[in-house]
Amino acid sequence: SRPLVEVRDLRMHFPIHAGVLRRRVGAVRAVDGVSFDIHEGETLGLVGESGCGKSTCGRAILRLYDITSGSIRIEGDEIGTLGQDALRPRRPRMQMVFQDPQASLNPRMTVARIIGEPLDEHTTLSRAEKLDRIYELMDAVGLNRNFANRYPHQFSGGQRQRIGIARALALNPKFIVCDEPIAALDVSIQAQVVNLLEDLQDRFGLTYLFISHDLSMVRHIADRVAVMYLGRVVELAPRDSLYGAPLHPYTQALLSAVPEPDPELESSRRHIILKGDVPSPANPPEGCNFCTRCPQAMPICHRIDPEMRELRPGHFAACHLHDPDHAPTAEPTAAND
Ligand code: SF4
Ligand code: MG
Repeated sequence: SRPLVEVRDLRMHFPIHAGVLRRRVGAVRAVDGVSFDIHEGETLGLVGESGCGKSTCGRAILRLYDITSGSIRIEGDEIGTLGQDALRPRRPRMQMVFQDPQASLNPRMTVARIIGEPLDEHTTLSRAEKLDRIYELMDAVGLNRNFANRYPHQFSGGQRQRIGIARALALNPKFIVCDEPIAALDVSIQAQVVNLLEDLQDRFGLTYLFISHDLSMVRHIADRVAVMYLGRVVELAPRDSLYGAPLHPYTQALLSAVPEPDPELESSRRHIILKGDVPSPANPPEGCNFCTRCPQAMPICHRIDPEMRELRPGHFAACHLHDPDHAPTAEPTAAND
């Protein structure tokens, strides 16, 4: 069946202006040619270090920006090029859960008004119908109905994120971008919020793009995972294939930094330390964008940008090490007689 979300060669470049005339002198290539599909009911994890463009990518897919180029189809409907007026009736089916519930909730609005706001904007429900729907949503996310007239500051961080989730659900969306939804929460309640998101996914048939720098959490929640580096997806794979046997040196380094709970295993693990800083997305390196930090870089990596290849079923990586034309030659074998 057709994927619910199809992203093709998405670019989001932010112009850099300089001087008194504010002339355009370049661009920050925050998202620089990203492609992936998300299937209905699936969770695609989008991981990478801060600044890699994953948040910008999520916002661009929801068209919170005018994108630079590329295609975004939701249920086959191209939204990449639409203007804000044409997007408006399409907004209900795609929503966002933000990282910082504190910053994303209006402190002067009651919980009922916050959750009801999308209903005001996109439906013609009566007051009574709206209140019913607000209560239903509060039940769904585990908030006490008696608190409907309280203000955000009267809730804990975890409860505030439940308010944000209830608001995102108000219009029965099909697709939700969760942008670091637990990063601002106490560790003790992170699992509760993740479990709630999984429970809501099953109940309402939701499809998620789950953006996070927390690889352990993504391993728990995602069906497939895309790894971003410097505005690009460098590896994309089913969860077990990615965590079990990552193919891209950047993914290998990221995963080597995740602590292993078993101390015996932890002590025998090799941590890959990456040298240098992430280059500026205004001036990415020639060739492979990871070549300035890659422990396995070869001469070709500085000249030619590796293409994404399917190396195992559903497992893609962009790296010359896995390219038969460019990979270092294997040891000759005795069978060659
Ligand atoms: Fe490293 Fe070269 Fe692979 Fe890039 S293409 S990840 S520099 S080995
Ligand atoms: Mg799931």
